Amino acid sequence: MEKKQLIILGSGPAGLTAAIYAKRAELDVLVVEKNMMSGGQVLNTYEVDNYPGLPGINGFEMGMKFREHADRLGVTFVSDEITGVEKTEDGFRLSGTSDTYESRTLIVATGATHRHLGLAREEELIGRGVSYCATCDGAFFRGRDVAVVGGGDVAVEDAVFLARLCRKVYVVHRRHELRAAKSLQARLLSMENVEMVWDSVVKELTGEDQLDGLVVSHVKTKEERRLEVDGVFVAVGILPNSDLTMGLADHDEGGYLKAGEDGITSAPGLFVAGDVRTKPLRQIVTAVSDGANCITSVERYLEQ
Ligand code: NDP
Repeated sequence: MEKKQLIILGSGPAGLTAAIYAKRAELDVLVVEKNMMSGGQVLNTYEVDNYPGLPGINGFEMGMKFREHADRLGVTFVSDEITGVEKTEDGFRLSGTSDTYESRTLIVATGATHRHLGLAREEELIGRGVSYCATCDGAFFRGRDVAVVGGGDVAVEDAVFLARLCRKVYVVHRRHELRAAKSLQARLLSMENVEMVWDSVVKELTGEDQLDGLVVSHVKTKEERRLEVDGVFVAVGILPNSDLTMGLADHDEGGYLKAGEDGITSAPGLFVAGDVRTKPLRQIVTAVSDGANCITSVERYLEQ
């Protein structure tokens, strides 16, 4: 494949917005996406209620709309898993499992993935009661008892969503205060079938082939309690997908690729947009803003 002016790695809101802006700036751009479907984490979001102008939009629908917009402008997409990125004399070479790609500039918009609890048996019980996506798997637990672990926006949103479907929802949180937005907290705490399990961490996942419960431990008293649940939804934050750029540019201690709002990293020609960037607020609206800003930075770089 001939060398591109720009490759965008990732097709979540940040990558797709960068693609839209790139096309409008008449850049020769290619989007490389790992999954067959564009949209990133948004696809797994039941309801997005904080994107201006589209109150309550379904996440899947939103992801599709972003992609349709890029398609309408004629953006070229390829599905490939990139396993290595190296700096060349005047750009970057990306090695994928299907092909190799070269470009003068690269926007990394690879997003972030769910953090696991790190418990014994956690991995083997994924899909057998352990889930990281309530909107994807919640329906399997209709009428049953489940637990959500975490106290951030995702945990609370998941718990509210699950409480509408399930008989009972335990929310296991390691502190006595939720990190989630106050409006979300109010919704959660008003639901009758939700029980907060404060100051507690999950110590053990039980069940043979299928999860049948959790053992939680109180962080102060160390007292243990068994919760009989068929499902546990782990929502304890996200980890940046930044392995590919580790040797190329500066990252912070959490692994996020360092850059300001302009998306300019410490490596010339390498830009970053969305959740994988160091930033105070990871939201769809800040991801799309990053995508737009990056294109201005790419244009300036290419003009130099
Ligand atoms: P957060 O980092 O906001 O929250 C993670 C939660 O998990 C915290 O409550 C944390 O506890 C807890 N936690 C972390 N590690 C562990 C562990 N090992 N064991 C037990 N508990 C743990 O992540 P989210 O995934 O909730 O959200 C990610 C980002 O997306 C945030 O910026 C959020 O605001 C944003 N978002 C916004 C939405 C919206 O506005 N509609 C919807 C969804 C996400 P502690 O509080 O003690 O640190």
